[in-house]
Amino acid sequence: MSERIRVLVSGARGKVGREVIKAVLGDNTLELVAAVDHNGVGEDAAVLAGLPACGVLIQGDLAAAITETQPQVMVDFTSPASVMENVRIALMAGVAPVVGTTGLSARDMEEIAEWAAAKEVGCLIAPNFAIGALLMMRFAREAARFFPNVEIIEYHHDQKLDAPSGTAIKTAELIREERRAIRQGHPEEEEKITGSRGGEFDGMRIHSVRLPGLVAHQEVIFGALGQTLSIRHDSISRESFMPGVLEAIHRIGAYKGLIYGLDKIIF
Ligand code: NAP
Repeated sequence: MSERIRVLVSGARGKVGREVIKAVLGDNTLELVAAVDHNGVGEDAAVLAGLPACGVLIQGDLAAAITETQPQVMVDFTSPASVMENVRIALMAGVAPVVGTTGLSARDMEEIAEWAAAKEVGCLIAPNFAIGALLMMRFAREAARFFPNVEIIEYHHDQKLDAPSGTAIKTAELIREERRAIRQGHPEEEEKITGSRGGEFDGMRIHSVRLPGLVAHQEVIFGALGQTLSIRHDSISRESFMPGVLEAIHRIGAYKGLIYGLDKIIF
């Protein structure tokens, strides 16, 4: 068997991080070499993920974990406040980041692109790792050629920190590539409660719903004369992200520089 890819998981104790630990341990072409989180330092990463102990203990310091364990890939599902520094630390050490954490700004991404290019290391930032969500975005982009009137409604659990979701922003960006520019709704419409028409993106509206019980869902609704078209994707468990995460871990070594969107490496 060829050498296994050495993987560090950052945010290993989080909701998605635990699934990543399970997925990496379940793939015999990958080796989990380190698990990093603010919480649970010293606990076995596999036990936290509901599996028998694997001997990889949670560490609190990302830079020290990289120096000690020499990973090839860092998978990051942490928080909007932490991700930028984590990506910087990984890239400066020559480790390829596979980033699921959302909330990075366009400016952040420009900076990351510069770091990745300078170090000649691949870095994937993917707002959504679920293959069905990628297809939803692709179909929405296609539909926008015919239906320029569109609103995006994204639904997430109430622990999510950023709004709108990275997926909603990415969807709007893709739609913008195909849609003729129009400003939607009545020109004189008035919001009785601020924000009731949602966030404005290039004339489109994006609405963010936050409720316990939800995981990650999105509906893109197109309206035209006498018809509507709804394109919807539901991640009903966090396992839905894992085939995409594994695919990214396997492929990132072949790239140099920043890649934004899993679609760029799997379609
Ligand atoms: P979560 O349950 O809060 O987990 C995040 C974990 O990372 C927490 O244990 C947190 O600790 C830890 N953490 C934060 N900063 C850290 C740092 N600098 N170093 C080490 N650990 C750190 O969140 P989640 O639901 O797993 O989501 C994580 C991120 O992934 C969010 O941005 C979410 O939007 C995104 N997400 C992306 C996708 C996708 O497909 N791209 C899918 C689902 C979620 P503390 O609690 O102490 O801060």
